[in-house]
Amino acid sequence: MRNSGIAVLCSVEADGSFKNVTFELLGAARSLAEKTGEKVIALVCADENFNASVLGNFGADKVFVLDHRKTGFFELDADVSAISSIISDIQPSIVLFPATDYGRVLAPEVAARLHCGITADCTDFDIDAEGRLVQIRPALGGNITAHIISPSTLPQMATARPSVFKKREYKTENFEKIVVKNDFAILAEKVLKLNENSIITSSEAKIEDASIVVSVGNGVSSRELIQRLGDFAASIGGVLACSRKIVEKGWLEQSLQVGQSGKTITPEIYFAIGISGAVQHLAGMKSSGFIVAVNTDKSAEIFSYSDIGFVMDAEEWLNSAEKFFTRQPE
Ligand SMILES: Cc1cc2nc3c(=O)[nH]c(=O)nc-3n(C[C@H](O)[C@H](O)[C@H](O)COP(=O)(O)OP(=O)(O)OC[C@H]3O[C@@H](n4cnc5c(N)ncnc54)[C@H](O)[C@@H]3O)c2cc1C
Repeated sequence: MRNSGIAVLCSVEADGSFKNVTFELLGAARSLAEKTGEKVIALVCADENFNASVLGNFGADKVFVLDHRKTGFFELDADVSAISSIISDIQPSIVLFPATDYGRVLAPEVAARLHCGITADCTDFDIDAEGRLVQIRPALGGNITAHIISPSTLPQMATARPSVFKKREYKTENFEKIVVKNDFAILAEKVLKLNENSIITSSEAKIEDASIVVSVGNGVSSRELIQRLGDFAASIGGVLACSRKIVEKGWLEQSLQVGQSGKTITPEIYFAIGISGAVQHLAGMKSSGFIVAVNTDKSAEIFSYSDIGFVMDAEEWLNSAEKFFTRQPE
């Protein structure tokens, strides 16, 4: 069994306070941690300056502040991405979500992203002899109490209703706050800075003159998606380009082709969306200032050349990117 922490998703109110259920779940996590010997980790989606120290008085050893919302208000995709990504990085053995409106929407999305099971509305937890989380909840109309385990997937995930677990004052020693900016947030800041300092941000620029180029390849499966990526490029002051496969399909003109038999370009930021990274393509863009790769295949060659890589479906990536890049912080 993994032994790298018990995580609790903490929901923050608009005024920066925490809902009671956050402290209740930290209490539940603390009791479990006493059995497994793990640390309790709080996950909070908030601004990097957010004061999360109160969590250290209720059992959290460590808090990860996930600073990724460029819009200042709740965005499901952004929170799902950030939470899934931190869970993949820190690999907790257990993740508890509050069964609030926020937690109920978020938890199944995160579970699906991470290919994990999830038990909803738990009323109690325990650790069995093999160190597994026992997720206890009423079943069959409340006539029986089910004891559920997740034997084959990690982390073990569950939601718990408010007012079921006891809030527990427990001051942890060496409480630690770690701010995590996710790749979308880092990239959005980079684009913003570039546009602030750039004289030419016209989407009419030729690909060889543009400072931001969004290039599409064979992994972008429809003209409609290319059109949307073109709109996205324009919204961040960039232009659309492509690999030879897209030209061969007749979807974009040859003047937009990057590579050995196309153009050689060196933009400040080059987005390679659904592009494998064939040597003939790399010849036209590998000297770009900052390369962003989006590809469903984590072993695609393009990732060896990228500064930031998203192992993601192109459309899914665009859905998230549109939220991060095209609106300004409030
Ligand atoms: C003489 C010569 C000159 C050439 N000149 C050029 C040139 O100038 N420019 C050029 O580009 N090519 C050139 N080529 C072609 C080159 O060899 C490659 O065939 C081409 O670059 C591949 O294009 P691609 O990466 O778009 O497509 P593929 O190689 O088919 O890659 C598509 C990628 O998309 C990924 N993908 C699939 N589905 C999704 C999804 N839903 N979301 C995200 N990613 C997904 C896949 O994992 C794959 O990595 C040349 C070839 C020759 C022989």
